[in-house]
Amino acid sequence: MNEHATMEKVVNLCKRRGFIFPSSEIYGGIGSTWDYGPVGVELKRNVKEAWWKAVVTGRNDTVGLDASILMHPRVWEASGHVAGFSDPLVECKKCNRRYREDFLAEPGQCPDCDGKVTEARQFNLMFKTFMGPVEDTASTVFLRPETAQGIFVNFTNVLDTARQKIPFGIAQIGKSFRNEITPGNFIFRTREFEQMEIEYFVKPGEDEEAFQSWQDARLGWYVDNGIRAENLRLRPHDSDELAHYAKACVDVEYEFPFGWSELEGIANRSDFDLKQHMEYSGKDMTYFDEATRSRYVPYVIEPSAGVDRPLLAFLVDAYDEEEVEGDRRIVLRLDPRLAPFKAGVYPLLRKDGQPERAQEIRDILKEHFPVVYDQAGSIGRRYRRQDEVGTPFGVTVDHETMKDQTVTLRDRDAMTQVRIPVDRLVDEIRRRIDPRTRDR
Ligand code: ATP
Repeated sequence: MNEHATMEKVVNLCKRRGFIFPSSEIYGGIGSTWDYGPVGVELKRNVKEAWWKAVVTGRNDTVGLDASILMHPRVWEASGHVAGFSDPLVECKKCNRRYREDFLAEPGQCPDCDGKVTEARQFNLMFKTFMGPVEDTASTVFLRPETAQGIFVNFTNVLDTARQKIPFGIAQIGKSFRNEITPGNFIFRTREFEQMEIEYFVKPGEDEEAFQSWQDARLGWYVDNGIRAENLRLRPHDSDELAHYAKACVDVEYEFPFGWSELEGIANRSDFDLKQHMEYSGKDMTYFDEATRSRYVPYVIEPSAGVDRPLLAFLVDAYDEEEVEGDRRIVLRLDPRLAPFKAGVYPLLRKDGQPERAQEIRDILKEHFPVVYDQAGSIGRRYRRQDEVGTPFGVTVDHETMKDQTVTLRDRDAMTQVRIPVDRLVDEIRRRIDPRTRDR
């Protein structure tokens, strides 16, 4: 566990520096929904981009998809969500607060007062709404509680157009909605969130090998993007924990300040989903294997991650505090590829043409990566501000720049500075961002 990061510190930093704000804050907020600010939105884009690169554009056996949130209601009958996507809900008989029964510290006992709770009833987590101008049962639709079904219903469309042969995967990133009984822990559990999901289709019998290799790949992705390996683990589900569709499931867990918790579930869904959709839609979704000239329903391995939970783990893991010359420095040691901005550009003084030169340099760098310009306050304070949002490099323009076209390049982690010519800046920063050339 990261001993410096408490949830309170991370939440405060997120608010203070423009990562994440409570939604509709001027109206008092609306339970557990959050908005990503100017800094957070960059981090979120980078997390999604790192995932997309690792599982779509960086591989030869996966393709992307972007399906709609609203789907035919029959989808959710076929998938089992209408009948079974529910959590056990209990209510305190005294204070009337509601809880998820399996989250109670003491069975039968209200966690907020001395009351007893009711018997549990199953509460369906899908949000319902109406499609079109008539509000009746025939027009009821659901906000999708997972992106996966958008992939399954498009299986044959993709197969017919993408020129892929099994084994291959379809990946997508998008919003999902769950009417969670007890959301909480900041962006860890919310009612609206983003998911990054892969459905990897394999020949039955080859599923266990693919299940194992996706576990390795997905655990490796978190480490490769900067999370310390000792704060991650794979936790296989017990058989009584398995979802109705799963043959096996392993969670990637991170040790948050509130304990080990799931970032991603990797499930062997067998042929459950495609078979269900074949039955409910009456459409053939089998795969024709040219080698054996026979048809089969593929098995599916599903690595299913959130965006927000991994993002929180990246923030928590990167959070650090240290004493520097008698001052406390807060620094986010984010991997430079995930960092919202790659460099801060600063004039040492607000005179002698330094601000103008620094702005020119900012504009040169901006062609290549996101950078920020800051001329307010002492140079030390400006460095600290960028340390807090994880900006890995600082470029300072001073009186020497005006004479010899060199600047200082500061490293966020080591706080060392080197002098380099302006015309080498882009290449040098790029080299330091690229993990293949970086000292790790
Ligand atoms: P939990 O047991 O924590 O409720 P789950 O097992 O129901 O999660 P999955 O259905 O496996 O979650 O969803 C895959 C991923 O989607 C999770 O690992 C998580 O990263 C993300 N996710 C699921 N529910 C939420 C939520 N309410 N808020 C934020 N992210 C979520």
